[in-house]
Amino acid sequence: SQQQKIYNFSAGPCILPQEVLKQAQDEMMNWHGSGVSVMEMSHRSKEFISIAEQAEKDFRELLNVPKNYQVFFFQGGASMQFSAIPYNILGDKTKVNYITTGSWSEQAQKEAKKLAQTVEAWQDHASKFTTVPNPETWNIDKECAYFHYCDNETIHGVEFNDFPFEKVEGMTLVSDMSSNIGTRPIDWEKYGVVYAGAQKNLGPAGVCIVVVREDLIGKQRPDTPILFDWKVFRDAPTKFHNTPACYPIYVTGLNLAHMKSQGLQHYQDLANKRASALYDYIDASEGYYTNPVEPKYRSRTNIPFRVKKDEKLETKFLAEAQKVGLIELKGHRSVGGCRASCYNAMPFEGVEALIEFMKKFREENP
Ligand code: PLP
Repeated sequence: SQQQKIYNFSAGPCILPQEVLKQAQDEMMNWHGSGVSVMEMSHRSKEFISIAEQAEKDFRELLNVPKNYQVFFFQGGASMQFSAIPYNILGDKTKVNYITTGSWSEQAQKEAKKLAQTVEAWQDHASKFTTVPNPETWNIDKECAYFHYCDNETIHGVEFNDFPFEKVEGMTLVSDMSSNIGTRPIDWEKYGVVYAGAQKNLGPAGVCIVVVREDLIGKQRPDTPILFDWKVFRDAPTKFHNTPACYPIYVTGLNLAHMKSQGLQHYQDLANKRASALYDYIDASEGYYTNPVEPKYRSRTNIPFRVKKDEKLETKFLAEAQKVGLIELKGHRSVGGCRASCYNAMPFEGVEALIEFMKKFREENP
């Protein structure tokens, strides 16, 4: 029998295009006639080095990364960078500036607090996590070593669609782009560090892509654990101090090559199209479905919503959605409700199918 079409709205990990999975499958046991799987290769072999170099090249081309930025494929996820960032770039400063717009930036700040005094940019937390305060009211301290923000809060669905770069001018800007990387161009000149766990928009779990402006490397504290130390990796042959996550880097590379062939504009248009369709339907549903985020800051990739603000109805919604192949729509345990995560590999048809289902569910459960 025909397998039902599945649309996976999971917040991570990870969805990949069918053609990329197919290519990985075809090459699984014998990579390019080498007679071995990429899983079995030495990470120092010329074959694996060529795989990693190509992945980096495709990442750079897809996102137009300038030459004076290093691109790393680290293990430890974005969470490891929460710690690695202050170790590497605090330098001789004692303070760091963070803005908390959701759980991930909150966790990032918590790690930085272990090493430095953190200055929170958001003064009044009354409407926390459904909006971003007017940048005019931000507490910005230019004595800080850097300013950190999360470009897209995966759990709360808050995205910076118009970051006020002028407010932090002169500071080193650091951004967590784990859940929206590859959905639009990045204005690199504005950033010191951009980092993103691959496992949402780019590839399998196990790789965190960290992009660092060259002049920021080499300021690490003397007590920096070796696996956090960007300079150790930059100076290592092939930029791998220890064994990297070879297979995830390889699959990420296959997907980056695929994305490059589509072009970034394709993904940007698709992200905008998916999100507008879904928010438009939610807003037109007369309060049956609701999203709490101020429209200006609504995430294009993680769309949380409630069903009549009724937990029982939501349980039913999730169960019935699952039955028709719309899976992983449950909201994060900390906020409840539902959430549709629409990363780069989500086709528009997935969102259309979800909206059709939402319409039908509403009719049947008035
Ligand atoms: N930052 C954001 C925005 C995330 O969504 C996540 C994970 O979902 C993380 C950081 C943590 O990433 P990791 O699990 O790779 O440590």
